[in-house]
Amino acid sequence: MERPCDDVRENLKRIRETMAQAAVASGRRPEDVRLLGVTKTVPPDRINAALEAGVTMIGENRVQEFLEKRDALRLEGAAVHLIGHLQTNKVSRIVGLVDMIESVDSVRLARAVSDASVKRGLVTDVLAEVNIGREEAKSGVFAENLDEMLEEIRLFPGIRVRGLMTVPPILETEGEKRAVFSQMYKLFIDIRGKNKDNVVMDTLSMGMSGDYREAILEGATLVRVGSALFGRRAYPAR
Ligand SMILES: *Cc1c(COP(=O)(O)O)cnc(C)c1O
Repeated sequence: MERPCDDVRENLKRIRETMAQAAVASGRRPEDVRLLGVTKTVPPDRINAALEAGVTMIGENRVQEFLEKRDALRLEGAAVHLIGHLQTNKVSRIVGLVDMIESVDSVRLARAVSDASVKRGLVTDVLAEVNIGREEAKSGVFAENLDEMLEEIRLFPGIRVRGLMTVPPILETEGEKRAVFSQMYKLFIDIRGKNKDNVVMDTLSMGMSGDYREAILEGATLVRVGSALFGRRAYPAR
């Protein structure tokens, strides 16, 4: 073993405990909140250690990086999500290889995913990415445009909208973090209440290493945890 992965297993145990406590504190069962291990820049042996230790979902940011690592991963029974910004010209390379695309933020991208899926006889699960902090440098649709986008993309035959995803602004206090996650939760519940055809709304993906506890307390059903699980990334992603 050239790379002992005990740290990954220990981190996983701690994260699961925190997640379970937060789930219970928010009136849910621990199994109602799922963990997605974010594997950008993480080498395959450490990803495999996490998979062996019981991680059932991983998320990659970049199509190219995932394709390079894919053959070395032991993915049987595990789901892969694409969580990074996706360019339309890369869609056909990734559709069919991932279980969900969490970063759909435009009608154009949704249409490309749908078309590529139809071509392969598939329906791809997607989340609508919301730019909840209205940050210029970030992708995601603004909250006020979400409904309009969903009304259009829900008609596309090759995708199924399963919920919302967000990468919120970097915030300091617990109160600030919870306020933003709570905004997302309201949006999620509001759309779910409209019972749109072909919009399932069972997944609210929010919370990362620094704020997954707060996200769960405010209703996240899926948290995306990278550095708290695998350690600090050796080189910057993207
Ligand atoms: C990198 C990344 C994460 C995980 O970030 P950590 O702070 O390392 O947990 C989650 N979601 C997205 C979209 C990311 O790019």
